[in-house]
Amino acid sequence: MPSIDTAGAVLRIDLEALAENYRIIQRQVAPATVAGVVKANGYGLGAEHVAATLMDAGCRHFFVALLGEAVALKPALRDGVSLFVLNGLQPGAEGDCAAIDAIPVLNSLDQIVRWARQARTLGRRLPAVLQVDSGMSRLGLSPEEVATLVAEPERLDGIDLKLIMSHLACADDPDAAFNDQQRENFEALARHFPDVPRALDNSGGAFLKRGHFDLVRAGIALYGGAPQGSPNPMRAVVALEARITQLRNVPAGAGVGYGLTHGCDRPTQIATIPVGYADGWPRHLSNVGSAFIKGIRAPIIGRVSMDSITLDVTDVPDILLYPGAPVELLGPHQTIDAVAADAGTIAYEILTQLGQRYCRVVGAATVPHKRSITA
Ligand SMILES: *Cc1c(COP(=O)(O)O)cnc(C)c1O
Repeated sequence: MPSIDTAGAVLRIDLEALAENYRIIQRQVAPATVAGVVKANGYGLGAEHVAATLMDAGCRHFFVALLGEAVALKPALRDGVSLFVLNGLQPGAEGDCAAIDAIPVLNSLDQIVRWARQARTLGRRLPAVLQVDSGMSRLGLSPEEVATLVAEPERLDGIDLKLIMSHLACADDPDAAFNDQQRENFEALARHFPDVPRALDNSGGAFLKRGHFDLVRAGIALYGGAPQGSPNPMRAVVALEARITQLRNVPAGAGVGYGLTHGCDRPTQIATIPVGYADGWPRHLSNVGSAFIKGIRAPIIGRVSMDSITLDVTDVPDILLYPGAPVELLGPHQTIDAVAADAGTIAYEILTQLGQRYCRVVGAATVPHKRSITA
């Protein structure tokens, strides 16, 4: 991994804040239990230390999307911790899934057939989650397929149903009427499995003003993203600080960056920083986004390049501007949700795209910063 001196920027991952967010959600949804969603490498932050932190905080249920993610994470999990695979079982994956005691989310009658067959092959009952489609039209059994299952319960022979779940389409919008519609659809489908614990809510759902069933699958809120717009009750988990590579002064009329998409309308001081779209800093932030230098906004001018960004620092005091000077990309003045809004996307995408070239400092609340004023 790049060091503080060899990387273009330092990505700080605050595991204290992650644990605090887990506790905030747990208080919010009690008496329901909070499961950690750690798919996509813990939303880009590192599934292993995320899971270790959450286990310390009391989390005993984890969800990944793919069996491959489960295989990678399994050795890091402690005894008695459950690992669920949201996308369920690809044909041919049954043996691998059973071998690591991962619990598939069965999304179709076909997946049920294959898991039941695997149970017969192994001569033991196998655990599973049943997902029903309550209106999102993405994964899970349709109401008709649920009816088939209810009429032919022997299809579940050998399968130990641990949970029945569904997923909300509009949970980030507390005013969306569809949230109630989905809850009603879900309750109607889950009623056929009266003894099985139920799970409907993600981060957004956890903050809807109603009950939360038995288990809540929390992802983005754990990582500091706003579950439902502002105000955001979560603590920021990531901070990203780049260091100025080069400073220059250009006259009015100068063009900046690829395609010269920015023209300076005044004599302008430009700071170039070593973070670009190859680091997951969206190219859509060209001429739109911002950075902050000691809290002072420095707009991105010109296009975001693969490895660098140009900032207008004309209004930043000179004392703060030198090669190696710190520039905040994510931190107290700029949240993941703010960057996402500027880029026309969501915080999930900002987090999961965070690059591999950063120096990642995990756990520490503050990063040692070397001041190198050697002008
Ligand atoms: C990703 C995912 C979650 C977590 O959603 P957040 O909005 O990040 O809390 C929960 N459930 C399912 C089925 C998911 O795919």
